[in-house]
Order: sequence, then C-alpha cells, then structure tokens
Amino acid sequence: MPAWLDKIKQGFTWSYQGGVHPATHKQNINCAQPKTLSLPRHIYIPVQQHIGSAGKLIVKLGQTVKKGQALSQSQFFQAPPVHASLAGTVVAIEPRVSAHPSALPELSVVIEVDQQQQDSDYLTPLTEQELSPELICQRVHQAGITGMGGAGFPTALKITPNKPLDVLIINGAECEPYITADDCLMRNYASELMRGVALLQKALQPHITIIAVEDDKPEALQALREASNDSIMVRNIPTKYPSGGEKQLIQILTGKEVGARQLPIDMGILVHNVGTAYAIHRAVDHGEPLISRIVTLAGDRLTEAANYWLNIGTSVADILDEKAPNAAEGPVIMGGSMMGFMLPSTQASVIKTTNCLILNKPMAEVHESPCIRCGACAEACPMGLLPQQLYWFAKGDELNKARDYKIMDCIECGACAYVCPSNIPLVEYYRTAKAKIKSEDLAKQEAEQAKQRFDARQARLEKDKAERKAKHQEAALRRQNQVQTNSNQGKPDPVAAALARVTQAKQAVPAAKQTESGDWVPDNQQAIAAREARKAQRRAKQAETNTEASNDEKIASSSTNPAVAAAIARAKAKKAQTEQTANTNEETPASSANPAVAAAIARAKAKKAEAAQAAEPSEKTPARSSNPAVAAAIARAKAKKAKAEQQSAEQTHETALTAEQPVEETTKKPKSAAVVAAIAKAKAKQAEQATGDTKDDSENTKSKAEPADKPKKAKSAAVAAAIAKAKAKKAAEQQRQEKPVDDQ
Ligand code: SF4
Ligand code: SF4
Repeated sequence: MPAWLDKIKQGFTWSYQGGVHPATHKQNINCAQPKTLSLPRHIYIPVQQHIGSAGKLIVKLGQTVKKGQALSQSQFFQAPPVHASLAGTVVAIEPRVSAHPSALPELSVVIEVDQQQQDSDYLTPLTEQELSPELICQRVHQAGITGMGGAGFPTALKITPNKPLDVLIINGAECEPYITADDCLMRNYASELMRGVALLQKALQPHITIIAVEDDKPEALQALREASNDSIMVRNIPTKYPSGGEKQLIQILTGKEVGARQLPIDMGILVHNVGTAYAIHRAVDHGEPLISRIVTLAGDRLTEAANYWLNIGTSVADILDEKAPNAAEGPVIMGGSMMGFMLPSTQASVIKTTNCLILNKPMAEVHESPCIRCGACAEACPMGLLPQQLYWFAKGDELNKARDYKIMDCIECGACAYVCPSNIPLVEYYRTAKAKIKSEDLAKQEAEQAKQRFDARQARLEKDKAERKAKHQEAALRRQNQVQTNSNQGKPDPVAAALARVTQAKQAVPAAKQTESGDWVPDNQQAIAAREARKAQRRAKQAETNTEASNDEKIASSSTNPAVAAAIARAKAKKAQTEQTANTNEETPASSANPAVAAAIARAKAKKAEAAQAAEPSEKTPARSSNPAVAAAIARAKAKKAKAEQQSAEQTHETALTAEQPVEETTKKPKSAAVVAAIAKAKAKQAEQATGDTKDDSENTKSKAEPADKPKKAKSAAVAAAIAKAKAKKAAEQQRQEKPVDDQ
C-alpha cells in the first residue's frame, strides 16, 4: 500500500490555503426528522436535471402515471431517466422555467397529482446474492441517480469500474451557510446511508473509504460512527468554507491537489455525497428511484426553517404558498448563500440537485465600489488564484489573459467576494468570462475538427489519385507489352485501331457555321440530305412492294376461288331465266295489254342484241338479223329452245351448288365446270342451228307470220346465241383456270 494511504489510515489530515469562516445560520434550522409538505395539485418535472443529456420521453399527454414510473429512458449512463415523483395524470409536456440563474425554458412533464396516491411503480429490489458491480451500476442508472451535492453528475457513469480506486470519500462536510440537509440525513438515516456506502464499496472496490463530516455537526458524526464498520473511516474535519468542495476535501483527507485539467479518478480518488449514497441504498434495496430528497427551507420569511422531504418537481411557488403564505415579497435563493443563485421566477421547481431554498427578506441594496487592491480576495481564494487580477481581465474582456491567470480553475466558491470590502460581485464577473472562454474553446474545437476532416479528405483524395496513377501506369505497361506481342505475332494493335476509329468519327463531325445572329451552330446540311435520300429510297421500295401485292391479290381473287365461280354461275342461271321470260313475252306480244309497251320491249331487246353482236365481231348474226324472215325464224327457234336453256341453267346452278360442297366434294368441281362448258357449247351450236332452221321456216311461212314480230324474234335469237357463246367461252376459261388449282 502506498505511503499516502498509510498516512490516511493512521488518521492524518491535511489543510488547504485560503477559505473563510462565514456565519453558518444553521443553528435555528430544525434538523430532527425531516418534515413533509401537503400534496401539491401539480408537479413539474424537467426532463434534464443533470450534467449530460436528456433521456427519451416515454409518456404521452393524458397518460396516467404511477409514483416512481419512469418518464424518460436511455441506455446511456450520461442520460439518466427522470421519474414521476407522485401518481397522477400527464396534463402537459411543455417548456417551463428551469431551476437555473438564466431561467431558460426546459422541457418538463406536468403531472396533475392524484390526491389518493395509492399506486406506485418501483423497481424490483436486488438481493444480496445477485449484487455485482455491473448490476449496481445498472440499477443506479435505472433509478436516475445523479450527484446530490450540487453538480448533478450521473452517478452510474461515475461508479462504472474502469480504473482502480484507492480512496472512496463520502462527503458529509456541508460547509455552506444555511444548508443542513446532509446533516439531517446523517443524523436520521445513518444506518441506511452506511448501507449505501457499502454498496458503493461493492461497486468500486476501494482500498480506503472515508466519510468526512465537519466538526460543527456532532450529532451526525456520532450517528455515523455508531452505524459504521471497520471498513469505513469517519473523519472529523475543521469547519471552514469551502471544505465541502471536492478538491478541497480531497486535499484535506489525502493531502493531494487535483489539477485544473485533472479528474479525481485520475489520482485513484472518488468523492460521493452522503445523499447519493442514501439514494443508492433506496434504489438497490427498495427499488425506489430518485423521486424525492431532503431540502433545507431556510430564511426569515418562513414560519419555521426546517428540512423537508420534497418531491422532485414541487414548484417553489407551492412551497411559498404553504410555508410562507403571508410573507412579503423577496428573493428566493436556490442553494447556499455562497454558491447558490437567485431564482428569477418562483415557477421553477425542485430538482435532484436542489439542497436548499433560502427565503430571506430583501436586504438593503449593496453598491459595488472600485477595487482598492487590498488583496483580501487573494488570501481567501482556496485555489490559490489572484481574484483581483481575474476581475480586471474579466471586466476588460481580456479573455486570454484571464485564461493565463487560470480563471478556469476557479470553483466559484465566492470566498473572494465574501471578503471583498468593495462589495464587488467577483464571481459574477468570473462566470461571465468563463462562459465566453468556453464558447471560444467550443468554436475552436469545432474549427479544429473541421480542419481535421478536411485534412483527412485531402489525404484520401491524394491517396486515391496516387492509386489511380499507379493503375494507369500498370495498364499502360500491359498495353505496351500487348502491342509488342501483337507486333511479334503479326496481329494489328486493337488500341491503335480503336483510336483510328475515334479519329475518323471526330473528322466526320459536321463543320460549324455561323448564323445571322453571329452564333456558331453545327452545319448538318449534308447529313440531313443523306437522311432524306435514304427516306425516299425506302418509300419507293415500299410502293413497289405494295403494287406487287395488290396484283397478286387480284389474280388470286379472279381465278382460284370456287365460291366466286359459283356466284358467277348463279348469276348466269338467273340471267338465262330472265331471257327466257323475255322470249316468252316476245312470242306472245298480243298478251300484252298495251301494244306500245310490247313494241318498246322489242326495240330494247333488239338494241341489246346489236350490242352483243358488236361485242362478238366474229359472229355473223348481224347479217342475218337484218332479214326479218330469218329473225322471225330465229325467234321461234329460240322460244323452242328456251326450255332447253332453262334446263341448262338449272344444271349450271346445280353445278354451282356442287362447288359449294365441303372440301371432300371439291374434286367434282373440274368435272362440273367441264359439263357447264359442254352444255354452253351445245347451246351455242343449237342456237346457230335454230337460226338456220328458222331461216328456212320463215321462207316457207312468210305469208302466215305477222310482219311486226319477225324482226324482234330474229334479234332475240341472235342475242341468245351470243349469250350462249359467251357462256361457253367463259366456262372454258373457268375450266382452264380451275384446272391448275385442282392439280395442286
Ligand atoms: S478584495 Fe476586492 S477590493 Fe480587495 S483586492 Fe480583491 S477585488 Fe479588490
Ligand atoms: S471564487 Fe474563485 S477566485 Fe474567488 S475565491 Fe473562490 S476560487 Fe478563488
């Protein structure tokens, strides 16, 4: 064990320079059992009451919460949760006045308090068997415990066992005037406090554990000594302000000075407040989160100065209403008279670090006088600083000089201001200057981080560039080797060929031309003309293709379709029937009631016959038709053979029907067409013969026949003959056309 630890064990104590002995104002404060206040209507719980960051809110507006229920949570120790100190309903989640000199709004959960207070939601107590340093740490975090001496540092973070610990100090010095909360706790809850110290010992495994109490608290000292065991040393230290300061207490108990940039743990020392130890006991052994604490209510505006168990979130206004209802207006100081601060608003509420509220009557206004350079402040400073110099530098905004004079080491104890005969609020100057320096440092830090990011990026870019260059060089070397290999093997160089193509393509880019407005635009005329020529060529080719297709369609539709042939045959049959009817009418013109109509019909038929003769110049019927006797004979013959023609037409119709038969019957089509052609030929022949017969008959019966009917009948016979010939010709043509199809 190191010598300094041996000395501590032997009971040595040390001292520090400076310090003051202000009036304590503790004599009239009741330190017996702490009192309680009646339930308030509302409590206001800020989400962040500590150094670090706020947890995540896990309650909603209108939600009912139990006493001890977590309102926020976080897995990180720097963000301990906050809890409902009383059961009730969440009626607002809004920014409210903070317990801070600035009174800046802070997000708070407003709970309408259930006056029955029957529900609680505590954690499950831990048994002795399951206790471990890690589990204690976790429980301390879950319970939302922070340092209760005033700093508000998250306790779980502080007790995480990451470094060996030599000395664990439990701070019961409570040196500030008016404050007796710790004294009250030590007097009334010594054994519970000692249990909390034991849990800290289990978590931290220190070599030495010391509880320090100022000698103006004999009752507390006695209670602790009675409750302690051999592993815990209870030290009685001289009453002097600020002996309760962390650095001062370490110096008193260990003789070691903690530097401005040092943490006590760096020296193997940790300091916890007695209130923190008690809260750890409640969390581990009872599952109770940090939802209340002892607060000293002092000041001459109160009917009774005493210590109270106050629920976290109780508003100062509610306390005043109950404990100073008829008091005159006056300042409210949160904390002690040396290091505390004046609350700008009584809407602020009690938080985890609140240990005292001083409600004194307004004091006579004190005017600040010029510094007389008496040096009293320097003698009082426990940190060995030069408060007078710091004052000048802070007032003149000479921050660098103030920094050189170690203004950042100032613990803002107020000892210098307490002794200053000029009533200069020195600590206020220091706080302002320190805030500016912190702001400057933060800006510098951010700028430095930005520079580091920039440098890192530049280095990365340089590295990438170098890597790319190396890759290119490697690729060039490979290409060179490939070219050499190709050259040796007589192969063309692919890269050179690609480059040649690119060059050619670049040369093919149209030249630019200048417009009237002076702008240069690409000259695309040649490319456009070439494109139009290609289009015209495509159109001509398409038109040619369309023409060929149309001709093919015509040929196909006129020659090879059996249905069309059938339709033609039907039309022929119908026409023949019509002609037969007409011939019948010609033979019996007397049957017409109107002779003029009959004559007109005869003239039309004659005209038709002439047209048919003109269409068939090879026939010689026109010469015959000019003879009325012959024509009459022909007409009679035609009438005689009309029936045969009708029968022929009917046969043609049947043939056409046969052509419409299913596929298995289509093999008969060529035969039917041949029959039709033969019939048509026979008809034509018969018609010619009939014409000749009629000629002879007409000569014999010339005197008997009526002169008006002879020319008409001759013409009709010629027409019939022409039609028959035409039919024969068509049938023959049809036969020829159908034959290849069937052959196929
Ligand atoms: S105590 Fe006050 S007056 Fe005296 S030197 Fe310090 S600042 Fe000046
Ligand atoms: S407030 Fe600062 S300068 Fe003044 S005595 Fe305390 S530590 Fe020294």
